[in-house]
Amino acid sequence: MVTTQLLQVSTIEEVRKYIQRVRKEGKRIGFVPTMGYLHEGHISLVQAARAACDVVVMSIFVNPLQFGPNEDFERYPRDLERDRELAANAGVDLLFTPDVKEMYPRKVVTTVSVAEVSEPLCGKSRPGHFDGVATVVMKLFQIVQPDAAFFGQKDAQQLAVISRMVEDLSVPVEIVPCPIVREADGLALSSRNVYLTPEERKQAVVLFRSLKLAEALLATGTPLREIREQMTAMIKAEPLAEIDYVEVMKYPELVSAEHAEKGERICFALAVRFGRTRLIDNWITTV
Ligand code: AMP
Repeated sequence: MVTTQLLQVSTIEEVRKYIQRVRKEGKRIGFVPTMGYLHEGHISLVQAARAACDVVVMSIFVNPLQFGPNEDFERYPRDLERDRELAANAGVDLLFTPDVKEMYPRKVVTTVSVAEVSEPLCGKSRPGHFDGVATVVMKLFQIVQPDAAFFGQKDAQQLAVISRMVEDLSVPVEIVPCPIVREADGLALSSRNVYLTPEERKQAVVLFRSLKLAEALLATGTPLREIREQMTAMIKAEPLAEIDYVEVMKYPELVSAEHAEKGERICFALAVRFGRTRLIDNWITTV
């Protein structure tokens, strides 16, 4: 257990004051943006940030801009008490927990939109989602002004969108990708996993199983199109699974991998619904 003194603040002004002070001390600032309901995936980002930086700032903010009108903004799991304790134990120095009024006191008319990489996959099923993500991350970067920010590869498209935004707009933040943390049976950790019924939870492991199938088939030289078909069939065999997408894309460009050349990075990406719960997972590799 790490014993740093966690400071929790909920206003932008308090964050700025803190950052000004640690900057003066010449500290390197690492930042972990989250929506809370913390799990080991989030904690692994904190650990990476601690290893690379002097000060770790975490934000917990369920960002209404990135939820569609019929999505789970209202019922998204929240437990600030528990999160504060987990963050303190993981070694977070500053926990920023603004409310919606603090982040968006007025109607937001200035947004960040990253074309192309935002459009396929989750961008197609969740219109406007990545504009909401890019806008809040840009805003958080302006508030925290970190040297480095840590993102999970679990959200591979989000990582691609943020990396592209930072490159295109010359944002002075190093984006650090961190590996996917999984349950013992392979299910990727997600705050949304608590929505799953016991039967859905059992069947949800098919996301990981289909990625392992992709790995095995790729090793034997199976064409990508056929791998995708076999993954789809495997997922469809689970009675509670309803496929949103099963795709193979070049990464991080997120264009069709149909003509991927040897040595290129590709991403097998999945979104599958179980009842009201939508789960995503992916595997990035080189062909
Ligand atoms: P969220 O709170 O879901 O918005 O996630 C906050 C950050 O944690 C994002 O960078 C996610 O990619 C990352 N994250 C979520 N789940 C995992 C996981 N299972 N493994 C690694 N990183 C994760």
